[in-house]
Amino acid sequence: MNYSSAFIPTLREVPADAVIASHRLMFRAGLLRKLANGLFAYLPLGLRSFRKVEQIIREEMNAAGALEIKPTVVVPGELWKESGRWDAMGESLLRVKNRLDNDFVVSPTAEEAFTSIVRDELSSYRQLPLTLYQINTKFRDEIRPRYGVMRGREFVMKDAYSWHTDDKSLDETYQAMGRAYRRIFKRCGLSVIPVKADSGAMGGSGSEEFMVESEVGDNTLILCKKCDYAANVEKAGCKPDFTTAAAANTPPFEKIDTPNVKTIDELCAFLKTESSQFIKTLIYRALNVELDLSAAPGCSKLERKKPAPDAPLVYPEAFFSVAIRGDLDVNEVKLAAALKASEVALASDNDVIRLTNAPVGFAGPVGLTSLPLVIDHTVTGMNDAVTGALEKDLHYRHVAYGRDFTGWMIEDVRTVKAGDLCPLCGGELYTKMGNELGHIFKLGYKYTRSMNVSYLDENGKAQTPIMGCYGIGVDRTLASVIEEHHDEAGIIWPTSIAPYHVIIIPIKYDGAVKAAADKLAAELTEAGLEVLLDDRNERPGVKFNDADLTGIPWRVVIGDKGLANPTPQVEIKRRSEKENRMVELDKAAAELAQKIREEEEIIKALK
Ligand code: ATP
Ligand code: MG
Repeated sequence: MNYSSAFIPTLREVPADAVIASHRLMFRAGLLRKLANGLFAYLPLGLRSFRKVEQIIREEMNAAGALEIKPTVVVPGELWKESGRWDAMGESLLRVKNRLDNDFVVSPTAEEAFTSIVRDELSSYRQLPLTLYQINTKFRDEIRPRYGVMRGREFVMKDAYSWHTDDKSLDETYQAMGRAYRRIFKRCGLSVIPVKADSGAMGGSGSEEFMVESEVGDNTLILCKKCDYAANVEKAGCKPDFTTAAAANTPPFEKIDTPNVKTIDELCAFLKTESSQFIKTLIYRALNVELDLSAAPGCSKLERKKPAPDAPLVYPEAFFSVAIRGDLDVNEVKLAAALKASEVALASDNDVIRLTNAPVGFAGPVGLTSLPLVIDHTVTGMNDAVTGALEKDLHYRHVAYGRDFTGWMIEDVRTVKAGDLCPLCGGELYTKMGNELGHIFKLGYKYTRSMNVSYLDENGKAQTPIMGCYGIGVDRTLASVIEEHHDEAGIIWPTSIAPYHVIIIPIKYDGAVKAAADKLAAELTEAGLEVLLDDRNERPGVKFNDADLTGIPWRVVIGDKGLANPTPQVEIKRRSEKENRMVELDKAAAELAQKIREEEEIIKALK
């Protein structure tokens, strides 16, 4: 390809809203242009790399036994109503109507579409397991699209879905997908950190996210300094840093006046104590709670419903009090998982006042019988604590767990922090910020139940299949490669996804230099390499800058001086290295072809 006809509009200046390197460089190197906030167009150079990422994903998915299909991006709203997500998804779901007033959804993900296809075809256990995937456009009306294609509104996702007769079969596919993901990211030149992730309330039992470290990442990763423990903070656990202590020597608890004290810090100052001596009690509202609350305090009159004929009963709404050591925070994802709830959030002030019969800020576990009390593990180690007294400006002190109150449920719901201890080896935990590139997830029966999918087992009995889902963001993967591989001057593509393998720069595209450049380009192309020949009538400096900016892995410079040697020579340089080398013109194509092939072989042989 000749540069002059390749439509590579490079820019010297940086777009004003581009704060991360990949966003800046994708614009400057002419890979991408913006149509609107969160909507981007790939230009030819960007699309070449994009397609290569897609192809790597496709090869690895196929090798792992997944089958590619191509459903539509616009799907009937009916399917989303069946699964319950028409209402549950909120504002990020783009709902549209056609001229007949029918509802449609622009897919943000495709559990419904795939499940509906499989539902219509599935009859026997012999058809399972089955894994289908697509590499297709998604739309999410993100509140804050940012960092270019890292978080766009429209993007491309590889999404795979699998159906199984049992957990064991699901686990096999889940593991195979995990292995495929590791290979995909390695082949793209990415260092990913697989972390344990929340698997939600709906019967999911396994979830792993593939993260790349990023200063602007949306996820906090908890990692161990000593072993390979790695988890999303939403899921992370830690070794207990308390011992359950008896209350033998604690004086009876007593009420104390704490006038105008509102925050835990103020209370600590007032009582000259540490926040870790305080039991924080918070009231939460939970939705779609799958636990049985019939014997829980204050819940006897709660209504229970079946969202789908084959689905378990849930309480559409329930309230809980949650007690935790005062220096810690409640992890709402862990709490939702413990309550088997689809969602939890702090209750409104009105609900707090109604349920605790006290002003906001004075809840405490002693005497709080109007709702079930969830106790974080840490509270079981507290035998002389301060708590709210369920009355304005009053607290209790000398409160002991086990003596003065117990919980309806004891669970680990704390948010793990740097400095806590690794749950596996006791080593010190630390944090990193990360961006999620991919996610593998054991979905359980959520969609197969709500959408009534069944097959006949060996005995002719109808059964519901269990499901897994597996996603990778193609755009985000591509941008992350640039984040990991660039320098001041521009992108440094790994060969596997570079838009071209070689850029040839004739110092002046004329005469003998032009003839040599054309010859080399033809030879390289013949050898199966992708070549960009900078035929522009530009100063060499401009051409070198653009070559660095666009990040083509190999650069060959051809000038009169090199060609004047007894055996004509050209200069070869790797984008990732400083040094260049003179190579005989006649041998250049073979040498480059060999180097690139060797690299491809190494990458393909990756475990
Ligand atoms: P996030 O937490 O970043 O919003 P998610 O957990 O909602 O992502 P999934 O539903 O797990 O995303 O989607 C699978 C993959 O799709 C993600 O791992 C990510 O690579 C990609 N992805 C999700 N949302 C976006 C987006 N707005 N722009 C680009 N890629 C996205
Ligand atoms: Mg995810």
